[in-house]
Amino acid sequence: MLTKSLLQTLSHPIFTKHQISVQIKRDDLIHPQISGNKWRKLKYNIEYAKKQKLAGIVSFGGSYSNHIHALAYACYQQKIKSVAIIRGEASNGENSTLSWAKHWGMELHFVDRKTYRKRDDANYLAQLQQKFPDYFIVPEGGSNTLALPGMAEVINELEQQTQFDTLMVPVGSGGTLAGLITADNSLVQNKQHQLLGIAVLKQPKEHTDYLDKSVRRLLSKKHQQKGNWQILSQYHGGGYAKFKLEDAQRIIDFSQITGVPFEPIYSGKMIIALLDLIEAGYFAKQHRIVLLHTGGLQGLAGLAEQNKITVNEWPSPPEPPVR
Ligand SMILES: *Cc1c(COP(=O)(O)O)cnc(C)c1O
Repeated sequence: MLTKSLLQTLSHPIFTKHQISVQIKRDDLIHPQISGNKWRKLKYNIEYAKKQKLAGIVSFGGSYSNHIHALAYACYQQKIKSVAIIRGEASNGENSTLSWAKHWGMELHFVDRKTYRKRDDANYLAQLQQKFPDYFIVPEGGSNTLALPGMAEVINELEQQTQFDTLMVPVGSGGTLAGLITADNSLVQNKQHQLLGIAVLKQPKEHTDYLDKSVRRLLSKKHQQKGNWQILSQYHGGGYAKFKLEDAQRIIDFSQITGVPFEPIYSGKMIIALLDLIEAGYFAKQHRIVLLHTGGLQGLAGLAEQNKITVNEWPSPPEPPVR
């Protein structure tokens, strides 16, 4: 189902100036419809649903969710059913993300914010399971323990592709980083890396360790104890799906210089963090960084639709297939 993703070297004047090497693992290129990390996280979830002979998968997401988009296509391709509980109004079903999800056969159920907030409550999930008895329920973002082995494969591929010191990755629900941690922890000590997560959302003031906890919750005891990882929380740019104009311009410029497309909600925030950290002298000379490009470019169409970006300044989202 998956082939190894490309690893590419990036050139940028700031890398030369600070004598740092930067490579990018192009998981955005794994599949034209399925956002990179979501594909990896879903792989063993879908395998499980099929092995158990279940009818399909139920999951959760916002109206422009990369996870929902990826899940819809992956289930369509694997010939199982998909159901999504969407936060928002039914009229959102016509947007670029959800109209494709419907096109690929996904059944959408729209709920208000209050209901959506119950998405991890045991009682609510039991009710949902009764409503969809032969479906496998996958949490928001696809971040459950079955997501980890899929993400772990990134580290195994990198082991064959290069040597590096730090792997950077955007963090939303934490499943991506958790999977990378399990794989890196399993390498012999002197082969392990620094894993640097960039929070794309503002953590609540009273829970500034919210994302750390989300990651830890997914890790088995064995992996909770160790690991050379941390999440930097100062690059959310105002909160989830928000971004500053000047950051948007820096991301656009970075795409132009490197030739790699980014969007401002996930991968772009990692780029802002990278540039700021390099300028602040965070990385020693000769440091070797790998960026994980988690995809998410389908989201650009939604941002354009909502007039949050000017289309011609940004890379074009992947071509949708013929309807
Ligand atoms: C979902 C997503 C992430 C965050 O992954 P988590 O496993 O939720 O932390 C990062 N980048 C992109 C493009 C995504 O769609």
